[in-house]
Amino acid sequence: MNLFHGPFYGIMTFDIIISGLGCAGLSLVNYVLDSPLNQKAILLIGNEGEGEKNKTWCYWAETPLAIHPSVKPLVAWKNLKFIHRDDKISTSLDHLNYYKVSAEDFYKEIWEKINQYPGITYINDFVEDILQEDGSLKIKTKNSGCFLGKKVFNSIQLPHMQNHSRLNQVFLGWEIKSDRLNLNKDAVTLMHFDSKNGKEMGFTYILPFNQNHALVEYTLFSKNKLPSMDIMEAEIKKYIHSQWGITDYSITYREQGVIPMSTFPPNLKDYQNLYHIGSIAGWTKPSTGYTFHKIQTRCQSIVNNLLDDKRINKHAWERAGRFKFYDNILLNIAYKWPEKLPEVFLDLFRKNAAKNILKFLNEETSLWEEIRLLAKLRFRIFIRSLIHYDRY
Ligand SMILES: Cc1cc2nc3c(=O)[nH]c(=O)nc-3n(C[C@H](O)[C@H](O)[C@H](O)COP(=O)(O)OP(=O)(O)OC[C@H]3O[C@@H](n4cnc5c(N)ncnc54)[C@H](O)[C@@H]3O)c2cc1C
Repeated sequence: MNLFHGPFYGIMTFDIIISGLGCAGLSLVNYVLDSPLNQKAILLIGNEGEGEKNKTWCYWAETPLAIHPSVKPLVAWKNLKFIHRDDKISTSLDHLNYYKVSAEDFYKEIWEKINQYPGITYINDFVEDILQEDGSLKIKTKNSGCFLGKKVFNSIQLPHMQNHSRLNQVFLGWEIKSDRLNLNKDAVTLMHFDSKNGKEMGFTYILPFNQNHALVEYTLFSKNKLPSMDIMEAEIKKYIHSQWGITDYSITYREQGVIPMSTFPPNLKDYQNLYHIGSIAGWTKPSTGYTFHKIQTRCQSIVNNLLDDKRINKHAWERAGRFKFYDNILLNIAYKWPEKLPEVFLDLFRKNAAKNILKFLNEETSLWEEIRLLAKLRFRIFIRSLIHYDRY
């Protein structure tokens, strides 16, 4: 890899520019480097370090994805739990596993790979804008000048792309360790609902790594105004104390995030040869926030299309109307009757095999499979949501 020390007075042109080097940008780089495209003139631009530990990504699959970091041991679970008051469901994932990826390991391995390619140029800088001038794509950076790209893949939220989501998934996670913890490491708690949290619905998500060590994440479906991190911290502390009776634990890692829950297409510049990728491109499932797996399948297919000299069809990435509809029904419940959400999720997982629900959440089911899955649920709240239907 060639680290660029700008500014450079003259405009350099690259075959491929990847703007934003988080999950989507680095995933794309990974697939590009594994292909003959690694001989092209490639520019990477991002403002992050090489290997920041800032996220924990989970996905489900039969076996780990090829991009899964090789660090051992592999962290995965075979069971999911849902809890609301005295109601508890534990369900097996069957042939699937729920895998955990540490962003730190993921970034580290991909950067190691990048460093083996002297032909790749990297700029550590802020991207200010992407423009189309005289038929070319021009990337404007804060300190290193401008660059031209024949194809540009962008995962950066640029100033004009404001998020107008009415509902956000806000979360704060702590990895905690304590000898006094005695966790069951076989099951992920996907949702432990908090029935006492006023008008908005909160739940705790737990990834138990061993009996003394877990990621405990408090999540809130929040309307417009974002809750302060003090409130979120207080919720995690309260949860740890009420569930496990401890106050003396060490916090070894923190993560936080806000995921817009919206089915509206993002406000993106639609220039020829400019492709938006990752969360900003609407690759996040609005009702759940899961994105990692989709990033992998889409980035892999981008590279396959480039190799075959096929057009990358951005419109093929648009979500099927019926999945937007299901998401809106659920988001409508989350917005208007959040107290009903625990019942909806517990009912869904009690009456259906987890593997079928996860296939549905991945948007890989047929209409017939969806009818069979949804027909088992209690209808009242869905009918209410349909009568008062809104788009989010
Ligand atoms: C804490 C957290 C946990 C998550 N957990 C899961 C999970 O378990 N499973 C799942 O499927 N999804 C999860 N998600 C959702 C999603 O997978 C992640 O947000 C994922 O990182 C999205 O990838 P991305 O490349 O689109 O965005 P990012 O990974 O955020 O990458 C964007 C990159 O662009 C850089 N950047 C931003 N602005 C500029 C600029 N102006 N100039 C240069 N660089 C810039 C940023 O520093 C960042 O590195 C999680 C999200 C968060 C926030």
